[in-house]
Amino acid sequence: MNTFEKDKQFVAPTYGRFPVEIVGGKGAVLKGSDNKEYIDLGSGIAVNTFGFRDDEWVNAVKAQLDSFAHTSNLYYTSPCADLAKMLCERTGMKNVFYSNSGAEANECAIKAARRYGSLNKGEDYYTIITLEKSFHGRTHTTLAATGQESFHKDFLPLTPGFVHTPPNDIGSLRKTVNENKCCAIMMEIVQGEGGVCALEKEFILEAQKLCRENDLVLIIDEVQAGNGRTGKLYAYMHYGITPDVVTTAKGLGGGLPIGVTMLGEKVKDIFAPGLNGSTFGGNPVCCSGAISILSRLTDEFLEEVTKKAEIIRETLGGAEGIEDVSGLGLMIGIKTTKEAKEVVNKCIENGVLVLTAKDKVRLLPPLNIDNNLLRKALEVIKEACK
Ligand SMILES: *Cc1c(COP(=O)(O)O)cnc(C)c1O
Repeated sequence: MNTFEKDKQFVAPTYGRFPVEIVGGKGAVLKGSDNKEYIDLGSGIAVNTFGFRDDEWVNAVKAQLDSFAHTSNLYYTSPCADLAKMLCERTGMKNVFYSNSGAEANECAIKAARRYGSLNKGEDYYTIITLEKSFHGRTHTTLAATGQESFHKDFLPLTPGFVHTPPNDIGSLRKTVNENKCCAIMMEIVQGEGGVCALEKEFILEAQKLCRENDLVLIIDEVQAGNGRTGKLYAYMHYGITPDVVTTAKGLGGGLPIGVTMLGEKVKDIFAPGLNGSTFGGNPVCCSGAISILSRLTDEFLEEVTKKAEIIRETLGGAEGIEDVSGLGLMIGIKTTKEAKEVVNKCIENGVLVLTAKDKVRLLPPLNIDNNLLRKALEVIKEACK
């Protein structure tokens, strides 16, 4: 049996996979089992921040593996403490809780908000407002947070206490705050799975204002948009807001699983021993890799990210068969005249891996992709959209 056959028989069919088997690669160039090379504009869904086999990341991970891979959270380890210090210093958050995925990071944020509401406002102040078209994860509670009916319908009843309101509609948001006993507003600055749509500045500022006025926890889900992806370390930094909780995962790990819930001043003391936990959370190997990623997301590097994003926008904007280019930084959605799926397949045929988000083609290239390689891939995309 080959990999395709084994996978089809023995792996639960929860993914619509493309007929490509990845066997290796370097940077943004991946190799298939068919010996074909692919330019990767998906980064394992915004995970491989510096592409495949990035030397510095590999060395950091290897060094920790050679030392030790895991201990329990009953003991201290330096990668866990060092990464937490770096994250807090770069964001102004006060402490962090570690887990292993974006969904878990959001679960922790939800627990923090619920406890905050219950302790400070009353036991029935548990409602969390999230946005329509949002995506917050696949666990049962983060599905409830996700404002998309299509994700809910087969798994009812979901965790109660979530209400959804349309993005960029300030009136609806205010009304929802007033009509519910709320503890938090939770949102992505750029809705990724929902179609790569950046929220409007006025809406983001109003959400913060409503949180302040009503003593709500402002949770920003930076699982996809965070860690340099939009040209700022975290996407909320484009807008000068101060969230109470920031969640992240994907790109922070650079290829290994990590989830982080950063707790700001308002909720920094919300957890006490025993109130949350994770066996693998803060794993020293994952944290060592993350330190190597985070330490290189400097202001100078992030300027380069913004320049690469401009190259993409200039090349694709107004091209034949391309109706709109949305998103922020290197988180890009392309509305195409053709079906997105058709464009993706055409790109694969011609050696470029791209993603979809709803009805759009989605690009999440490695942040350090070579500009010439990027231009080459963009020509393939343009051709596929015609
Ligand atoms: C991917 C994603 C998640 C879920 O992350 P997992 O690691 O798959 O659990 C949550 N929120 C956003 C915004 C995401 O893009």
